[in-house]
Amino acid sequence: MQQTKGPQKPLVIFFALGLFLVVMLNALLPSLSRTQQVPYSQFLQMLEQGQIVEVQQNATGDEIAFLAKEADGKTRYYTAGVLTETDLSSILTQYTGADGKPIVFGREMPPKNSSLLSFVFSWLIPTALLFGSGFLLMRMMQKKMGGNAMSFGKSTAKVYVQAQTGKTFADVAGQDEAKEALAEIVDFLHSPDKYRSVGAVMPKGALLVGPPGTGKTLLAKAVAGEAGVPFFSIAGSEFVEMFVGMGAARVRDLFKQASQKAPCIVFIDEIDTIGKSRDGAGGIGGGNDEREQTLNQLLTEMDGFDGSKGVIILAATNRPDSLDKALLRPGRFDRRIPVELPDLAGREAILKVHCKKIMLEENVNLTAIARATSGTSGAELANIVNEAALRAVKCNRRIVNQSDLEEAVEVVVAGYQRKGKVISPKEKRIVAYHEIGHALVAAKQTNSAPVTKITIIPRTSGALGYTMQVPEEDTNLLSKEEAFNKIATYTGGRAAEELIFGTFTSGASNDIEQATRLARSMVTRLGMSSEFDMMALETVSNQYLGGDASLSCSADTAARIDAEVLSIIKSAHQKATQILTENQDALHRLAAFLLERETITGQEFMELLEQPQLPVAETAE
Ligand code: ADP
Ligand code: MG
Ligand code: ZN
Repeated sequence: MQQTKGPQKPLVIFFALGLFLVVMLNALLPSLSRTQQVPYSQFLQMLEQGQIVEVQQNATGDEIAFLAKEADGKTRYYTAGVLTETDLSSILTQYTGADGKPIVFGREMPPKNSSLLSFVFSWLIPTALLFGSGFLLMRMMQKKMGGNAMSFGKSTAKVYVQAQTGKTFADVAGQDEAKEALAEIVDFLHSPDKYRSVGAVMPKGALLVGPPGTGKTLLAKAVAGEAGVPFFSIAGSEFVEMFVGMGAARVRDLFKQASQKAPCIVFIDEIDTIGKSRDGAGGIGGGNDEREQTLNQLLTEMDGFDGSKGVIILAATNRPDSLDKALLRPGRFDRRIPVELPDLAGREAILKVHCKKIMLEENVNLTAIARATSGTSGAELANIVNEAALRAVKCNRRIVNQSDLEEAVEVVVAGYQRKGKVISPKEKRIVAYHEIGHALVAAKQTNSAPVTKITIIPRTSGALGYTMQVPEEDTNLLSKEEAFNKIATYTGGRAAEELIFGTFTSGASNDIEQATRLARSMVTRLGMSSEFDMMALETVSNQYLGGDASLSCSADTAARIDAEVLSIIKSAHQKATQILTENQDALHRLAAFLLERETITGQEFMELLEQPQLPVAETAE
């Protein structure tokens, strides 16, 4: 039971220390107060010196308070203990008081200090101070744990105002369609009357969907920055709480705050964590009750909202197909904004945005980098720019150049160079022929994209070498021939090993995987086999997260699919072997060149390939 009490411990110590201080203060206080306690002997001494003005004895007779006029001419109050038997009044008559007057004697003790006042000063104020500072301390600790934004009561939704997200649409490159759709929302928040007068109602919610790292969260922050309205941001996972009912309570709380702050934006990141489809959520028992409650609460709140008030709900997900249909119906997240992987122009724009933060050599060609990075997301591109900057620093340069960026692309795509890895000359030869095999098959098939780089420097990803193929321009459609040629290129590495060494290695495992995946989708999804025509045999879920394909056909059909896939791969492999056999001289020449250089560019490759037959430098044993 003692875990989870972490932050309380220092508080307990703090209060204990404070109380101790208050007690100590009270023990010291009498000596500091104006009535000073003195021994009886001092009273007698003062009596003899004729300093006493007045003496009062208390009812029990064991204490006196007296006023004395001292040498400096000031009068002070003192108290002293006396023995109860002492007959003070008779003693006092034997002495004269200060200034020769008789000493006044009475039995009315003056109140020591005003007891109420002393209580206030010695107990109430210190205690109040103590608790006050304790409370402040607690608030400070809570703030530290809850991040830098203001947190409100139960909900951990953070309120961002304009300045705090610090992002604008200028920070988001590419994604023009998404920006356009969101700009409309921003415009509505700025001037709602324009829309109201026409009778148009703004959509209540917009759902940003797309693969990870494409800038969904960034876009939402940019909207907040542009709109200049409060921005409530909460991650879906924050709704899912340990305690039953908390998630739903959070939702209620969040929307309550939002409606108070309207116009404003509520942003729910990774909404799939709560918005998962409710049916089929998990066999017997009916799935996750807590999550369902949270989702129901969200649906209810969204219905209860008056869209014209100006509360707009943005959400982001990379698993739109898993969302509950109820969330997607009109009146809820009826607007869907796709945030796709950037195209060539988009990638260049993203690179430009991120390169603004670093010092770039003047003649750097970002288009070439964008071309070499097809299929990467905005986050990966940001990472590439950062890697390039790191490399420049490593080389003691302040300015990033083209080779930094090129190397960074390879680092992000294939991992760091493993300079220390020792590869035997024999293995190096195999790798060189394997890679040239890929490149040669690719180059000789007219429809295949030319290679840009071949290297046999091992990488931390485990690759011993690789061939980088770069399409001249982004293509969206894949023809049957192109697909087949790609498979042939994948098999080119193995084909070269077989042709030259008469045997083969495990180096083709990745090629096999990719060739099979492509061949399979040709048959089951792309309708590129004669046997199955346009029949859909597989359904794909999670398209943004790699795509899990699941077969939907009979066992008999599945066997025929396998046979069809195999035949495609076999004929592609045959084609590759044929190409390499026809160009065996070039294969030897290029492999020898690669072995010598370790890395060659696409241009060098093409020049050497197109050279008239030179004497072959080397042959395999
Ligand atoms: P997600 O779509 O997974 O929410 P993020 O919005 O978190 O992705 O993006 C991660 C990072 O990638 C951003 O902080 C930004 O640096 C970079 N990034 C992604 N897309 C873009 C883009 N279109 N323009 C500029 N930077 C981008
Ligand atoms: Mg995100
Ligand atoms: Zn290979």
